[in-house]
Amino acid sequence: MFRNCRQSLRLFHTSRIVRAQKSLTPLTSDKITNIKRSDKFKQLEHSDIDYFQTILTTNNVIHDGEANPEISSLTPYNTDFFNLHRGSSKLCLFPTETTQISKILKYCNEKKLAVVPQGGNTGVSGGQNPMFDEIIVNTSKMNKIRSFDPISGVAVADAGVVLENLDNYLAPLGYTVPLDLGAKGSCQIGGNVSTNAGGLRLMRFGNLHGNVLGLEVVLPDGTILDNLSTLRKDNTGYDLKQLFIGAEGTLGLVTGVSLLTPRKPKAVNIAMLALDSFDAVQKAFVMAKEDLSEILSAFEFWDRESMELVKRVMLQDSPYPIEAKSSFYALLETQGSRQEHDQEKIDAYLTRLMETDVAHDGVMAQDAKQTNALWQWRERIPEAIVKSGTAMTYDVAMDVQLLYKMVEDVKQHYGERGLLDTTYTNVIGFGHVGDGNLHIMANIPDHDRKAQKDMDSYVYDWAIKHNGSITAEHGIGVAKVNYMTRCKTEAQIHLMQTLKKAIDPNGIMNPYKAVPGTL
Ligand code: FAD
Repeated sequence: MFRNCRQSLRLFHTSRIVRAQKSLTPLTSDKITNIKRSDKFKQLEHSDIDYFQTILTTNNVIHDGEANPEISSLTPYNTDFFNLHRGSSKLCLFPTETTQISKILKYCNEKKLAVVPQGGNTGVSGGQNPMFDEIIVNTSKMNKIRSFDPISGVAVADAGVVLENLDNYLAPLGYTVPLDLGAKGSCQIGGNVSTNAGGLRLMRFGNLHGNVLGLEVVLPDGTILDNLSTLRKDNTGYDLKQLFIGAEGTLGLVTGVSLLTPRKPKAVNIAMLALDSFDAVQKAFVMAKEDLSEILSAFEFWDRESMELVKRVMLQDSPYPIEAKSSFYALLETQGSRQEHDQEKIDAYLTRLMETDVAHDGVMAQDAKQTNALWQWRERIPEAIVKSGTAMTYDVAMDVQLLYKMVEDVKQHYGERGLLDTTYTNVIGFGHVGDGNLHIMANIPDHDRKAQKDMDSYVYDWAIKHNGSITAEHGIGVAKVNYMTRCKTEAQIHLMQTLKKAIDPNGIMNPYKAVPGTL
């Protein structure tokens, strides 16, 4: 039966995610050995650092030649959140203005110095970390909200504005950001655009190709492309901003974003369901679309193993929100403008779920605090797996009917080889049902490259064989670049290479990433 959420629920902290303390992953260049440093690129010299210091103040230039990563001040920028990728850059720059980025890129282009754009460093494909010694250009200090129009709801912000800060700015004005993700306290709007981040509300608001109205981008030769339109409709020629959305920093450095923001909902409801099978998850999803239609804003699912892992590793002090154990859990959210209207709809939906035996238990949040607390059972899954050891993380898209079959097949595959629960532990599945997007994660023994490569191959081949995508929202970065030729046609790759070479003929922007064969 459906219950109100009564227990004392801890408030979800959405502040910056904290990387677990453990041994550093080996250098990416030692793991992905078929990618070699291009000798087209110059090695960094003191004269280069002297030049950057004429553009930026001293505290916005971190140069560290320290070979020991344990003590290098650049390690947090060379390494990713999941501790899966590590570069060996000796220089990180923190510009505060677009004109500074223009000067930096112009110089790097002339001197053939390779560059990695970096935002909040929460990316999951290693795109934001150097492959070798590329210079990191971090946008954290470009963090001003430039304007907001309360009539159109269009916000214009520097690329380095943290997603949650933008949302907090918009909230008292009655607006909200059209995307939400577990890393919102750390990721930046420029990084979100560059990865075409999806997240929890994509099924309601669509992806950033639709919500971004304009971009300001610095091209590799230093040209500032002012494409920062605030118009919803503009059919003058090619829609250039689309090239940079999801380009993972390979075509230019995004410095400003014009974003269409929706009204902040007056009524938010959230329910967690206990379901016996993935078939029941799908039924509950279809019924939610039927009964809740225009107010449905998120439909997430996770398996029992995810739930137990979060409890064990992250929320030891919080009681399970639903007492009876279940094979699957779903979290659905509605956002509307009138509580009574939405409540009536959600009550009818939940009653139908129980009467048709689709769900066997559930709980509904009664206030904002409980809403936040229920979300954390879903949002903290990635942190739980990272805290549990070397984490493998995948982000595949496919027909909704197939989503969980991949997890079952992975378990069977490694079970038959005697590797499940020995080499591959904590194999869990969760994701965005509404978007046909599964996250499958597992732990492996400390940085076991063989185990990592084996699971990469199995998961990506499985997705390709089932007409899926090897990345729904995290992007290619360096982690999947070797699989691009397996999932894109020759003509597709060729056109991507042509675009890259036209915009970045020297190949300085985030080399070795996303598109193979461009150097
Ligand atoms: P970074 O990690 O710094 O960079 C990511 C890529 O964008 C890199 O290739 C980088 O070179 C490029 N880039 C960054 N800034 C710029 C710029 N200004 N100009 C040009 N290129 C740039 N992702 C989702 O889509 N959905 C989720 O639900 C989701 N949940 C997550 C939960 C957790 C706990 C974590 C750790 C990550 C999650 N992610 C998710 C992944 C990540 O948060 C997103 O990819 C996010 O958009 C990255 O933003 P960032 O500012 O951290 O970018």
